[in-house]
Amino acid sequence: MSSYNLLNISEIISYVFLLLINQTELEYFAQSIESFRGQISNMLELYFEKRPRRNSEAYAVAYSKYYRDMIEGGALIVPGTPFGQEFDVKVKFVPLLHLTDKGKPILAEKTEFSYLSFFLYTDFYRGLIAGNIPRRCHNCGCYFLLNKGYDTCYCNNIAPGEEEKTCRKVGAHKKEAHKEGKTPACLEYDKVYNCLKTRRARGKMSVDEWNAAVALALEYKDKAERGEISDAELKAIYDKM
Ligand SMILES: [Zn+2]
Repeated sequence: MSSYNLLNISEIISYVFLLLINQTELEYFAQSIESFRGQISNMLELYFEKRPRRNSEAYAVAYSKYYRDMIEGGALIVPGTPFGQEFDVKVKFVPLLHLTDKGKPILAEKTEFSYLSFFLYTDFYRGLIAGNIPRRCHNCGCYFLLNKGYDTCYCNNIAPGEEEKTCRKVGAHKKEAHKEGKTPACLEYDKVYNCLKTRRARGKMSVDEWNAAVALALEYKDKAERGEISDAELKAIYDKM
């Protein structure tokens, strides 16, 4: 396991459960994962998200600021222990057989961690050094791995409420609209307005029906812009109109 990837955490967890032997360790396991998640998501949100660039140099600047603030603020991530990002690991150099090239021996570096959290922190920081970082998608809110040399704030999963469009596609559309000064609600309104207009032009709606439908669509758009309903709820309402 080398490159940092939050999405594969369930595989790691099931593996580590096999290694756990008593209740105390189980309790430590849950706590340590929770504190890892809390610490990393705060760090990413407050120190990394607003950096203008996404590369190892920018991550080093963000991390040094985070590190300084933690030391100066006397942060205690582990109760009773001053802040520091140190993790015990044991490194071994072992001969192994090549995974694909049968019979061919290779020299491998094997790293052993006594706790899953030590592995997660180590992999996270190694990822930062290599220029890879987990980022929270600006559309669906899930974490994805932002690889070196790439800068996007949207993941490549299917967007919530969509059947085919990924967050990246939805995001690009929103960005374009934002440049024109349009909100996501405004975009949805434009779509439903065009649908209603076509229906009216084909004579499938009376003038009164058309006026009432447009007024209702506008009312819901305003609600979404005031935050009373989400963009996804607005889309579901419009889909039924
Ligand atoms: Zn997403």
